[in-house]
Amino acid sequence: MPTGDHMTPEEFREAGHAMIDWIAEYMQQVEEFPVASRVEPGEVRAMLPAHPPEQGEPWSEIAADIDRVVMPGITHWQSPNFFGYFSSNSSGPSILGDLLSTGLGVQGMLWATSPACTELETHVLDWLVDILGLPAAFASDSKGGGVIQDTASSATLAAILTARERATDWLSNAEGAKGPLVAYTSSQAHSSIEKSAMVAGIGKNNVRMIDVDSAFAMRPQALAEAITADRAAGRTPFFVCASLGTTSSHAFDPLASIAEITQREGLWLHTDAAEAGAMLACPEFRHLAEGMEAADSFCFNPHKHLLTNFDCDAYFVRDREALIRTMSVLPEYLKNEQTMAGKVIDYRDWHVPLGRRFRALKLWFVIRHYGVEGLRSYLREHVRMAQLFASWVDQDPDFEIFAPHPLTLICFRHRSDDATNRELMQRLNDSGELFLTHTVLNDQFILRMAIGGAKTTESHVQRAWEKIRAMATELST
Ligand code: PLP
Repeated sequence: MPTGDHMTPEEFREAGHAMIDWIAEYMQQVEEFPVASRVEPGEVRAMLPAHPPEQGEPWSEIAADIDRVVMPGITHWQSPNFFGYFSSNSSGPSILGDLLSTGLGVQGMLWATSPACTELETHVLDWLVDILGLPAAFASDSKGGGVIQDTASSATLAAILTARERATDWLSNAEGAKGPLVAYTSSQAHSSIEKSAMVAGIGKNNVRMIDVDSAFAMRPQALAEAITADRAAGRTPFFVCASLGTTSSHAFDPLASIAEITQREGLWLHTDAAEAGAMLACPEFRHLAEGMEAADSFCFNPHKHLLTNFDCDAYFVRDREALIRTMSVLPEYLKNEQTMAGKVIDYRDWHVPLGRRFRALKLWFVIRHYGVEGLRSYLREHVRMAQLFASWVDQDPDFEIFAPHPLTLICFRHRSDDATNRELMQRLNDSGELFLTHTVLNDQFILRMAIGGAKTTESHVQRAWEKIRAMATELST
């Protein structure tokens, strides 16, 4: 291949077909790999040359390194035996959506830079309002609307920045405008809430981690007391993040009671449903989000449980003007007729980055491929399998369930000590047959079984449970 040449369309077609074949084969074989990568730190880098190639290499050599260099260092999130952290679903239509987005190579920062990128996104996010039964105030025909962010972390950052500006009448950095701003979330909330507050200049010391009840959900009374104490000390409460499905144990903060407080106190209420939010597609789970009508913002990750490859977070706000006013800076070089006429949405004003990928494509493909009923039955099957797993744990005198489990995450432990549970998890993961992660609840080491793999079936869950029991017996004899 002559140096510096582009791939010709024919070469691309050939290499592309081979790559699709490779991915399809991977999908078929993913279950055969040990779930967690077994490489030692530095092992992948050791296979790479110290310096980049001066001359371009043939594609065949580059492609060969996928198996040689990359695969040993892959933990197989798409394995049906992956039960760690949270589900991070992938699917055929979603992969094709990402491929098309990359193939088109558009920048969707303004409506004018690719109208389809903006309009498809607005439309698909309105569909999600419908699918999840979200308040009508989050739809684009109201004063609110939805936007795709890369991650829930970015959605929370957008929420906290908008809340900060609203609380200070868009003068957050004016000298002595208000006492220090204070944000509230539960002690079980995801670390991204604290991080967003740090990035937004609120400061770690002005984030209150509110105490939780025995179900690991925020105690509204403790929230009210913390707000009162901060006001008395001359500080300015401005933001509350309620979690619908905490990362650690899937706790659901009591949104309705929290909303009463935020409305009374005039605070921004953000709801983080990153992992569990997809479940709202099923009407029978919507009671877990009661009180949502009062939320200022809501986010969930189709890239977790909704068959849409990372990255894709859906962020909804009730007042889009507040968000746009917080994020918008319009330089001359981005001015165009449609923007200036105020006729269009320019999503660059709805988040921190300027450039944006055409992520709506994969979501659009997924919703159309599965249909809403298909998505619902997919989600219900995960809940069914998780409840079945919980019933097995519950019936086994050697194990105990450690937290309420309304959906797909089961927190449990062997009735022994932390060291044994830690060793149990290590040995299970070392076996390569399944992969689990842990948390700490009430100062105890807890195993987390997150059921939500795109290809996980009851027999995978059953085999996992048999393995867990057998390994625990082996450990205690
Ligand atoms: N919030 C919750 C409740 C989560 O479970 C997670 C991820 O595990 C996040 C936020 C962060 O998600 P992201 O990686 O999209 O920022």
